[in-house]
Amino acid sequence: MSKTLLIIKPDATERNLIGHIINRLERSRFTVADIRMVTLTEEQARKFYAVHEGKPFLNDLVAFMTSGPVVPMLLEKDNAVEDLRTLIGATDPTKAACGTIRFEIAKDIEKNSVHASDSDENAATEIAFFFGPDAI
Ligand code: GDP
Repeated sequence: MSKTLLIIKPDATERNLIGHIINRLERSRFTVADIRMVTLTEEQARKFYAVHEGKPFLNDLVAFMTSGPVVPMLLEKDNAVEDLRTLIGATDPTKAACGTIRFEIAKDIEKNSVHASDSDENAATEIAFFFGPDAI
């Protein structure tokens, strides 16, 4: 089993899609090992997205990610990081493969409903961010 982090973003919590997304995950054989609901402060969102420092969309992204509650969850599965990235689809939903979560429910390239860690290294950092270092 390996671990990864998924966040249900504010555009999806606002549309009452939490249960739908968890159902998609569980049907794809991910196990929810831990879950929270939190409204991020601007400082927390900037820290989480520190890798995007200097990108033109960072301020908009931080405003979006602090605009409502998000649901981070710790997921377990064989090959968790890669399989979850496949399941969520491309960042831009107009480019996401048919059947992916973003293809199905994302609104646009920013309000794309879910975040998923993109490497084992980033998964460890992101899991620790929400669930503490002992969760890794
Ligand atoms: P991800 O790993 O697929 O989530 O994509 P990135 O790490 O490249 O970007 C992080 C997040 O920033 C994305 O999920 C979007 O919410 C947002 N984002 C990425 N690219 C753009 C963009 O060109 N414009 C805007 N407004 N937001 C973007």
